[in-house]
Amino acid sequence: MAEIREKLENLTPEEAAMRIAKKIREIAPRKGKVIVSGGRGIGGAAFFGTLEELAKLLGGELASSRAGVAAGWIPYPYQVGSTGRRVSPDLYIACGISGTPQHRLGIKDAAHIIAINSYTNAPIFEIAEFGVVGDLRLVVPALIRHLHEVK
Ligand SMILES: Cc1cc2nc3c(=O)[nH]c(=O)nc-3n(C[C@H](O)[C@H](O)[C@H](O)COP(=O)(O)OP(=O)(O)OC[C@H]3O[C@@H](n4cnc5c(N)ncnc54)[C@H](O)[C@@H]3O)c2cc1C
Repeated sequence: MAEIREKLENLTPEEAAMRIAKKIREIAPRKGKVIVSGGRGIGGAAFFGTLEELAKLLGGELASSRAGVAAGWIPYPYQVGSTGRRVSPDLYIACGISGTPQHRLGIKDAAHIIAINSYTNAPIFEIAEFGVVGDLRLVVPALIRHLHEVK
């Protein structure tokens, strides 16, 4: 896992989106495997649709923490962690996932991790190479718009 860590705070959603897109371009190999994953912080099943749109734009796939599965927002096969799948993508984008030890176990072989979380001390930032402190409900749609624009 890459060691250089950067955590950005107090950005507008558009600024955050641009910085994340830049980071994705830097670290995700063109044909690398990408996983976009959602946790309790996404707030409901509907937002998995938004995350799926992002995953498709990046040629990637969708995943979840156990909280998302336990809430009935997404089926179990999507769960990543100690009692779910162990994944090893080139890039794992964690959205609204706190980063508990059980979840971390499932992503320890991810080459790069980007995290979006509204809580600056969320443990996920300890393992994310690049993090944005912000509201994912604003940042993710801004990222999707940005990726559409630069396509
Ligand atoms: C035996 C056992 C096995 C387990 N196996 C697994 C497993 O396989 N996988 C797994 O994931 N968990 C597993 N767990 C559960 C684990 O302990 C956690 O409960 C779970 O990972 C928490 O999921 P989460 O990070 O989505 O939710 P939370 O811990 O509730 O975190 C939600 C995060 O969302 C952020 N947030 C909230 N609103 C927003 C917003 N608008 N914008 C941005 N961020 C926001 C919060 O700051 C918070 O950091 C297991 C637990 C046990 C005891």
